[in-house]
Amino acid sequence: MRDPRYDVLFQPVRIGPVTARNRFFQVPHCNGMGHRHPSSLAEMRGVKAEGGWAVVCTEEVEIHHTSALDGAVEGRLWSDADIPAHARTVAKVHEHGGLAGIELVHSGLNAPNTYPRVPAIGPSARALTSGTPGQGRAMTLADIADLREWHRAAVRRSLQAGYDLVYVYAAHGLTVFQQFLSPRFNDRTDHYGGSLENRVRLLREVLTDTAELCAGRAGVACRIVVDELVGPSGLGRSEIEDVFGLIGELPDLWDLMVGEWDFDSSTSRFEQEGYNEPFVHGFKQLTTKPVVIVGRYTSPDTMVRLVNQGITDFIGAARPSIADPFLPSKIEQGRVDDIRECIGCNICVAGDWMAVPIRCTQNASMGEEWRRGWHPERIVAKPADAPADTKVLVVGAGPAGLEAALWLGRRGYEVVLTEATRTLGGRVALEAQLPGLAEWGRVADHRVGQLAKLPNVLVTLESPMTADEIAGYDFTHVAVATGCTWRADGVGRWHSQPVFADAITPDQLLAGQRPAGRQVVVFDDDLFYLGGVLAELLAREGFEVSIVTPESKVSAWTVNTMEQHKIHRRLIEAGVAILTDTTVLGSGNGLAQLACTYTGRERQVPCDSLVSVTLRLPDDALLHQLHAAGFAAAEAIGDAHCPGTIAEAVYSGRLYAESLHAPALPSGDTPFRREVIELA
Ligand code: ADP
Ligand code: SF4
Repeated sequence: MRDPRYDVLFQPVRIGPVTARNRFFQVPHCNGMGHRHPSSLAEMRGVKAEGGWAVVCTEEVEIHHTSALDGAVEGRLWSDADIPAHARTVAKVHEHGGLAGIELVHSGLNAPNTYPRVPAIGPSARALTSGTPGQGRAMTLADIADLREWHRAAVRRSLQAGYDLVYVYAAHGLTVFQQFLSPRFNDRTDHYGGSLENRVRLLREVLTDTAELCAGRAGVACRIVVDELVGPSGLGRSEIEDVFGLIGELPDLWDLMVGEWDFDSSTSRFEQEGYNEPFVHGFKQLTTKPVVIVGRYTSPDTMVRLVNQGITDFIGAARPSIADPFLPSKIEQGRVDDIRECIGCNICVAGDWMAVPIRCTQNASMGEEWRRGWHPERIVAKPADAPADTKVLVVGAGPAGLEAALWLGRRGYEVVLTEATRTLGGRVALEAQLPGLAEWGRVADHRVGQLAKLPNVLVTLESPMTADEIAGYDFTHVAVATGCTWRADGVGRWHSQPVFADAITPDQLLAGQRPAGRQVVVFDDDLFYLGGVLAELLAREGFEVSIVTPESKVSAWTVNTMEQHKIHRRLIEAGVAILTDTTVLGSGNGLAQLACTYTGRERQVPCDSLVSVTLRLPDDALLHQLHAAGFAAAEAIGDAHCPGTIAEAVYSGRLYAESLHAPALPSGDTPFRREVIELA
């Protein structure tokens, strides 16, 4: 039963001619599936609607070949041939009672257009904003007329596909309509440039076109940046308030966002739930139309406050809906404690940057709904013909072990989960203590809470398991989820042979050990977050820290989680010296020997202690002992199988649980469904 406090969240809200059944709104979000994996995409969106989201939107959908986001896999609606894929998504959303929204985009100066091989277009001639070398050309009045026609064609196709809500997109620094609005990109001297009235003209025209076509059939949404966060050179709040004065009543819904994508989707390392509220506050009062905002909201009490205080009509979500597609249903059913809260790690975002289907640390089923048939809430029950004596031991309660035990338990198996220490969570319990990573603890908290509801899963702490001990019990299957250990010898990407023996490892720092002396060199050849976060930790504790990396950026891979520039800034502010394009050859006598990765030129820096973040070794001794003792039904999962991200460990746990007593595939077969392009 729903807590009456949350009733307001389940009020229907009108969006022009359509009505949302509640206030939960999955705003458009990229997913790396786009036009390349249409059935995967449709199923994923359908599961969101099944979980109670009243509105489920697409990612940005290119309306024309002059807006090709090559390098990323987004939606596409260039011609009628693209309609059936969209119709499939719409059908899945409708099947579960949701409204389907489409976010049409013309990317203007942000489109690299390397596939269609046509120049990008924009209000004025400018460098491409996508980071691709090259520039776009200034649109003529004929181009503007064409653009309006392309948008109208895309709206017609959207209606044909059955969408209930059509977006005009002027946000994230990603679209031509924002480029016309913003003085950063628009220095035209005709009636589309100069004054705000002129700069808003194209947006007004396209909103009017869209409203005409959608009239009575679909709502029109406008996604707008309320502050570009670039100071006086760009759009600030007061100018956007004036935009609302000019066109505030034109769309049926306003979708408000702030800055660019890296701010809109800030990680929890840098921003907390609701961090963008001060920026969107007050806009609702400038229009009679409903408003949607985001802020990585997972707390229903905060959601209620946002509605009651008149800050928003809809609770928008991308990441909270990815981590838990059933968030609305859980609130509705009075199961708030069951919400699988987003941890703000942006592994989902990384999928888009890598142009592969979306994945999520918290929700292993994300992206696997169609291809593997996984569901965020359900799993196939233990088969009726499974041997009655089946009893599974999961050794190690890190992300992999917790996930495996949870889903095996949900399948109905008898499970024992043993943990050597007195804490559940493995690496997340430790890493959540690092600066900015507290929310990562949710990976363990959620699973520990859910396991407590399963009478068939026994959890034991302070129980380090050995192969001999296991042999004394009657387990039929053992999942070895014992994690991994960081190397101390420097072997990693850069060094293939040991170069030092005595470096301090992340494991030791996480266990509370601290470097001797004051001058610390952190050698980061892992390239993700950990080297940077350990440097930050030590600097905060008063050490003089240098971080050395062979890459040309600190924490280089975090460009994919959109944190790299924030990490760099934070390390500078913490007083950490950043040495890129450099490797560590060794240390001793108060010095570290460094070398330039391009020239090999060597130099020395003061170093009392060397911290090495390079490579991990699986802790799989137990697995080998079990196999040696003839126990064949033992398998390593998570980091004990192959060290990776937390998301990969969770996924590995789910895969283990899904696979038990599943029909074996012929060796060589791909273990998931794939959509193969139909030949022309
Ligand atoms: P993963 O990311 O693969 O889940 P973690 O390193 O986070 O791996 O977790 C591994 C967990 O396994 C740790 O909590 C560790 O204490 C526990 N562990 C390691 N060896 C044993 C063992 N022999 N018996 C029980 N628990 C173990
Ligand atoms: Fe949240 Fe991380 Fe999942 Fe993205 S991957 S939805 S940030 S938990």
